[in-house]
Amino acid sequence: MFFRSGRFLVIFAGYALSFGLLAGVASDVAPPRGEAAVLLKQADDTKTSNHAEFAALMGRLSDGSLVLSPEQQLYREYLEAWQVAYGGDYKKAISLLDHVIAQSGDAVIRVRAGFTAVNILGIASRYEEAFARLDPLVDQLSRVTDKETRLTGLSVTSQFYSEAGQYDLAVEYADKLLAENPIGQGACRGRYFKLEAFFKSGSLRPTTEQFRDGIDECAKVAEPIFGNLIRIYAAKAELEQDKPAEAVKLLQRGYDEVARTRYPPLISLFDATLAQAFWKAGDQVSTRRYARGAVDSGIKDEYTESLATAYRLLYELDKRQGDPSSALSWHEKYMAADKGYLNIVSAKALAYQTVKQQVLARKLQIDTLAEQNKILQLQQALSKKAVEASRLWIILLVLLLGFIGFVAYRIKRSQLKFMKLARRDGLTGIFNRQHFVSEAERLLQYCCKSNRDACLVLLDLDHFKLVNDTYGHAVGDRVLKRAVAACQAHLRSTDLFGRLGGEEFGMLLPECSPDRVLARVEQMRAAIAAVSTGESGGVVTVSASFGVASAATSGYELRQLMTDADDALYEAKREGRNRINLSASRGAQLSLV
Ligand code: GH3
Ligand code: MG
Ligand code: MG
Repeated sequence: MFFRSGRFLVIFAGYALSFGLLAGVASDVAPPRGEAAVLLKQADDTKTSNHAEFAALMGRLSDGSLVLSPEQQLYREYLEAWQVAYGGDYKKAISLLDHVIAQSGDAVIRVRAGFTAVNILGIASRYEEAFARLDPLVDQLSRVTDKETRLTGLSVTSQFYSEAGQYDLAVEYADKLLAENPIGQGACRGRYFKLEAFFKSGSLRPTTEQFRDGIDECAKVAEPIFGNLIRIYAAKAELEQDKPAEAVKLLQRGYDEVARTRYPPLISLFDATLAQAFWKAGDQVSTRRYARGAVDSGIKDEYTESLATAYRLLYELDKRQGDPSSALSWHEKYMAADKGYLNIVSAKALAYQTVKQQVLARKLQIDTLAEQNKILQLQQALSKKAVEASRLWIILLVLLLGFIGFVAYRIKRSQLKFMKLARRDGLTGIFNRQHFVSEAERLLQYCCKSNRDACLVLLDLDHFKLVNDTYGHAVGDRVLKRAVAACQAHLRSTDLFGRLGGEEFGMLLPECSPDRVLARVEQMRAAIAAVSTGESGGVVTVSASFGVASAATSGYELRQLMTDADDALYEAKREGRNRINLSASRGAQLSLV
């Protein structure tokens, strides 16, 4: 109700009023030192109470004679915003305050500048901007401990919510104000905001005691504006109960004090309410007097509730007193004022709702973005995990394959070792009988298919038993090995050599004619005989007898070759040993000594 014209005029006229909401109180923030600091503080203290002194101080602070720190410079700018607002340049005031808010490192100055800006925007009827700034500012206020800044901030917040028709919120901030200020200015203002919100909302009618308590509390701290505003609500409550006499009494008790405030909006409202009370009481003379007073003390071209009420009463009076043309003229004014006032009221409520919707829409947008962000992060985390998991699987697989390969290699190696062991003779290292037989059969098949020569040679050491008996088994073993080595020296890589048992050996020589075989076997025989004689620790004479069978005469069957070679060997033994005998199946016996 007094939000617009009230503050506007207080700022301009520089009334020595405790215009709490915007005027606030000079904050105790950062007690300044030095001359500039002292002047800044004085200017802050006098900005609403003594306009001339304030202007003079601002002149001193701006004439360049003082050196101001960057923070003091911003403090000066904050005060300058007040100065230009007095001059009606709200735009410049707002831009100065915005600069302070953006640059200052002092949270208290920032919040003070913020609330000043909200107030100026309200005065300039820029309600939407005012409400848009209010919410974040209230948030910042929760982190400010400076008592005076909080007093101003909570007052402005409660008042703005009340203006927007948000009475629950107005009561909430009034309660905060009361909780933080059990006594003093906050106690008076808190009561006023609360009573106003209750009264306007119509939900809870304050009691006479509550009104009286509010009036008393404001009287204690010399807050005549708030005290008498409460008085007006108390009077309105009496009028609602059809007690105009009570209302008149109540208002008249505060009349002189109100006049002393020289605060037009309050005086106008007081007069309008008194006129209403007299109208109800049937006192037409007094009604006209106070209604005219309300019109005269009201602000020109400002539509207020008091102005609308006063015009309406003047219209009613002239109508009743039979002056239709005057009545018509008041009625026209009443309609314009009422419409204008209601427009302002609904503009505030609409601005609040618009901002609320915008904030909600923004919040929704932010929430949606946050959700999308969360989903993206989750997806990223998941794909990262999937990559990690597949990497792990690959590593595991490689390790497993490596392990399998290693095991396979070990198995193969031991298999090979066993196979080798299974194929070889332990003492001499040449093929054992089994392997010799299977390899010989394979080789014979091949020679048979390709029509190549092949000879089987059987070798048996002579009187070997005697060697063992004479020199011992170990010497016998050594002789066996040397005999093998002597033969190997005359064998090709394609020849097979195996130990068939005891001191009996077999050789399969492919692609070799019997003559050449006999020549090579002869070399072996001589070599064995030579090796044996060189044995250390005594002369060990050893010789070998050989039986040879050729595939050309015996065929490619191993069994037959064996039989024929064995027969030939037997013959060699029988003929005196240390000789070679070619299988009789060839028809001719060869005997070499
Ligand atoms: P012959 O000239 O008639 O072949 O007479 P021999 O004594 O060589 O024949 P005999 O079959 O009677 O004896 C073979 C001996 O070979 C008997 C055995 O003690 C010996 N002997 C067999 N295998 C081994 C061996 O691995 N090491 C040793 N030291 N002696 C062996
Ligand atoms: Mg033998
Ligand atoms: Mg023998």
